[in-house]
Amino acid sequence: MMDAKKYIDTIPAVKDVAEKKETVWVNPRFLPFEVTDGVCQLVVSDEDIADAEARLARFAPFIMRCFPETRETNGLIESPLADIPKMQKALQETYGVSIPGRLMLKMDSHLAIAGSIKARGGIYEVLKHAEDLATLAGKLRVDEDYAKLADDEMKAFFGQYTVQVGSTGNLGLSIGIMSAALGFKVKVHMSADARQWKKDLLRSKGVEVIEYADDYSKAVAEGRRNSDADPMSYFVDDEKSVNLFLGYAVAAKRLKAQFDEMGIVIDEAHPLIVTIPAGVGGAPGGVAYGLKRVFKDNVHCFLAEPVMCPSVLLGLATQEYEKANVHEFGISGVTEADGLACAAPSGFVTRILQNLVSGDFTVDDYRLYDYLRLLHGTEGKLIEPSSCAAFIGPCMLLQYEASRQYCAEHGLDEKRLANSVQIAWATGGRLVPEEIWKEYLAKEMKH
Ligand SMILES: *Cc1c(COP(=O)(O)O)cnc(C)c1O
Repeated sequence: MMDAKKYIDTIPAVKDVAEKKETVWVNPRFLPFEVTDGVCQLVVSDEDIADAEARLARFAPFIMRCFPETRETNGLIESPLADIPKMQKALQETYGVSIPGRLMLKMDSHLAIAGSIKARGGIYEVLKHAEDLATLAGKLRVDEDYAKLADDEMKAFFGQYTVQVGSTGNLGLSIGIMSAALGFKVKVHMSADARQWKKDLLRSKGVEVIEYADDYSKAVAEGRRNSDADPMSYFVDDEKSVNLFLGYAVAAKRLKAQFDEMGIVIDEAHPLIVTIPAGVGGAPGGVAYGLKRVFKDNVHCFLAEPVMCPSVLLGLATQEYEKANVHEFGISGVTEADGLACAAPSGFVTRILQNLVSGDFTVDDYRLYDYLRLLHGTEGKLIEPSSCAAFIGPCMLLQYEASRQYCAEHGLDEKRLANSVQIAWATGGRLVPEEIWKEYLAKEMKH
């Protein structure tokens, strides 16, 4: 057992967290990119990310064949990057805050196939596993047209194997949908937080959904145990997987290409500030890691977590990593942000991020719905509650003393902030059914 009290007494942000107050934790171990580069590349290198990118390109013909919605992007699963000036203005007026720079929404909420950021990592890991199996069995060569993977013969081959995953919902959707498309048997172990419509959708795709009354860590542990007992089964391990991480990291070069297309330059005078909602840490961690590799010291990556479940913050701030569990700090882990309801963070991700991430904002649940309505009202865009956590970063960057000081210490003066691009990274929403949107839009929570 870790000594939670020691951390509550010595780290101000952890004290706020334990008191269930919104806060920011600014990373005291943040280092210039060049200093961290050598060690990080030993774990995940530029070549590894390039390899993941090449693998996704090989699968594009297969993806296009199975999922016609990806024709527009030639089988690549990529999301729009949108200016949201009306939202920026509304946030400033509603909350009386200043949001400098150009506020943009990276719409992973609308990624094809899985409708969330999990369409990057989750789908990548399933594709990698399928490629490994098929090439090893002599049924596929990497220089072949992967469209053939949609043939009945290949589906029968994959049908011998099972893929399993533990999930709060969206990871299950991405793994479930892609595994089923390839012909795998799929079992998704879901925590109590998972929304009913996500379970229903998966079952409609022929996925076996196993429900637990317990939280996410339990669903993962059970899934892992179940899978380990079956030699034909593969477990996608959200708490440890490097493959998931690589799938997420590819996002950075894609974003750079979008900037280039839009004529947006990111450099010392025009910094990039990103806020990404975090659950176990894998998706935001992988994206942030990729962003640091591309934009180096010119990007500042913040995470956002619910006040009731800031596990990545605790793992990083205490350096207890996967051992930091919100329950030990007297926090329930129960939140409206179902995609972020992970009581303990990924040990792998919190370690690799420890010198790269700038900080972590926590956000009250009621705000998620307020942001949801504001974005819908101003920009006509709908993103799910978990996604909405991303707006806390731009809103609060200049409100907390600690984050103002971060800006001052890292060259983010008034002029550079005015020239910056701020991205709120939207992480889910596309698959939310119509009647659930109505519910979300009407939901008022006590402030
Ligand atoms: C999974 C998820 C996240 C966070 O990803 P982690 O890998 O769990 O940190 C954020 N938003 C949504 C909507 C998600 O589904």
